[in-house]
Amino acid sequence: MELVKKEGRKVDSVELVEKYLKDESYKDALIIQSGIIGLSRQFLHNEGFVEYLPVIVSTITDPLNRDVFEAQIDYYGHKYYITKSMIVQKQVGILVHDKIFSFSPNLRLEREEKAQSGRHLIDFVQLDLEVKNAKREDIMSLMEDLIIFVINNLLQDHSELIKKYHPGLSVPKKPFNRISVKEAKKRFGDDYEKIISEKSTEPVWLIDMPIEEREFYDKQNPLEPDTLLDFDLIYPEGFGEGISGGEREYEYDQIVKRIKLKGNNLDSYEDYLKIARKGYLRPSAGCGIGIERFTRYIMGLEHVEKTRLFAKVPGQFSI
Ligand code: AMP
Ligand code: MG
Repeated sequence: MELVKKEGRKVDSVELVEKYLKDESYKDALIIQSGIIGLSRQFLHNEGFVEYLPVIVSTITDPLNRDVFEAQIDYYGHKYYITKSMIVQKQVGILVHDKIFSFSPNLRLEREEKAQSGRHLIDFVQLDLEVKNAKREDIMSLMEDLIIFVINNLLQDHSELIKKYHPGLSVPKKPFNRISVKEAKKRFGDDYEKIISEKSTEPVWLIDMPIEEREFYDKQNPLEPDTLLDFDLIYPEGFGEGISGGEREYEYDQIVKRIKLKGNNLDSYEDYLKIARKGYLRPSAGCGIGIERFTRYIMGLEHVEKTRLFAKVPGQFSI
């Protein structure tokens, strides 16, 4: 596997260790992150979810909606992709248990420009969940409850620590505001996501993405066919997108139509299409919440790099 296509900046390993020992914010962010992981798990177990171990390599992975370098491993004459998300595995997973989640490590070889966003790593973890027969509303409500549960408990258990970094953090109120992409573009122009995030003091749902702007697996809205039954959560105070999710396509003909619409190659999805063709897939909805971005928002940090040790910043090369 080729990790960088051009010469990335090599980070000195000893300098990195010295930074971790000197800058207390790494230590503090990891305490909060450990709390986020434990509390999310507790919340989902209480809601009847089963935790699946993550899938790291697969014959098929998320095409993503944007351009990242491919990460493949040759193995006995076949190609394994390193998973960019567990979307395909989740759609099969809900056939076995109705409510599932994984802390899923994803590799997305983002371009170096993304280093400036404050939100991108090439190796990150999302809490990826899916629920059989659920609607978009169910997942949005579930995630509001999860976020409120996590922040509420962290503010009780680590109030001094959070106050030190993000004194303005409060528990968001349910239901979070929502706005469609069409409406957002009308009101704020093309930079709507950034503007909404910067002017908000509470998380906001962005819903109804235009069909051509998202991957094939988010379900087309039958009542408004140029939009999808999906959503993003935008964190307030400029922290940007933190969750993406939606209802899923599960019918073979519709999946094929959507893959073609995106200009993707049907052959790359053969293992998945075979399952769909047999009629095994069922309606579901789900989402992924990035753990580093959730930590960054709660701690009010400049960059997700601050939320873990050995973070892989786009364009850099480190231990
Ligand atoms: P996506 O479905 O592509 O939006 O990914 C799900 C979630 O994972 C996003 O909402 C983010 O919280 C997180 N995420 C996606 N890409 C990255 C990245 N390059 N670095 C850190 N977190 C990410
Ligand atoms: Mg997204």
